[in-house]
Amino acid sequence: MPYDDSPPPTRRARPLSVAAALAAVCLTAAGCGGAEAGASGAASPRAGADAASPAPAKTSASPAAKPLPEGPLTGRTVVIDPGHHPGNRDHTREINEQVDIGTGRKECDTTGTATNDGYPEARFTLDVSHRLRTLLEAEGARVRLTHDTDRPFGPCIDERARIGNEAKADAVVSVHADGSAVGNRGFHVILPAEVKGGGADTSKIVKSSADLGARIAGHFARATGSAPSNYIGGNTGLDTRDDLGGLNLSTVPKVFVECGNMRDPEDAALLTAAAWRQKAAQGLADGITSYLKG
Ligand code: ZN
Repeated sequence: MPYDDSPPPTRRARPLSVAAALAAVCLTAAGCGGAEAGASGAASPRAGADAASPAPAKTSASPAAKPLPEGPLTGRTVVIDPGHHPGNRDHTREINEQVDIGTGRKECDTTGTATNDGYPEARFTLDVSHRLRTLLEAEGARVRLTHDTDRPFGPCIDERARIGNEAKADAVVSVHADGSAVGNRGFHVILPAEVKGGGADTSKIVKSSADLGARIAGHFARATGSAPSNYIGGNTGLDTRDDLGGLNLSTVPKVFVECGNMRDPEDAALLTAAAWRQKAAQGLADGITSYLKG
């Protein structure tokens, strides 16, 4: 099946009217093998690929010169973390290096999964993230992506967490899609467990992240029409994990969203459709906005 990869709406280059700024959007997720699960089952990474230039340690900030419209999220900062990176498959040596996740060590990053027709999770996550950025900026939020087209692979999961922390983000959402068995369908939101040890301490973000995640789950379901996962989270659409460095190392409210299961044909039909990805971005934006407005 051909990919429906039409570009997201053009980012607004000029201030919006208040009315226009009030128009918001959202998104969902299903498990991409637990977001940070191993690369097995992922779209064939090229083992032994030559190392390219080292990834720069910079973030993908919105253009500084672009004025943001006044809106309900004016003064708030949201970091969007597109899961994986399309270039990871060409940098398996680097992304397999272990990093400290507080409770242990884990691979720097993974390639992510793909649909059976080869649509990579890493392309899905970037597309949804771009759509989500457009929606949040229209509401006045300052938005940063942890990566975009500014680096060949990565960042590592510890750096992804650090970007949100250093931005002093009011909310961080890591966008993923799952790679589970056929018949496993729907989205789920992954919340940080209470973790203390090594360089991790989530005690101050567990409650706020749970609030953020619950709001995203509700709005995601509403915007997309998708049901919560039928294989994780007991139909609540919420799961809690202590093995994800991106959550363990966060000091600001953060969740992962698995928008659907790329390996299930019915979910894949949704995930590969641009119109559905726009609904997903709208659900995410609505959930984030609800959380930030309290
Ligand atoms: Zn993932």
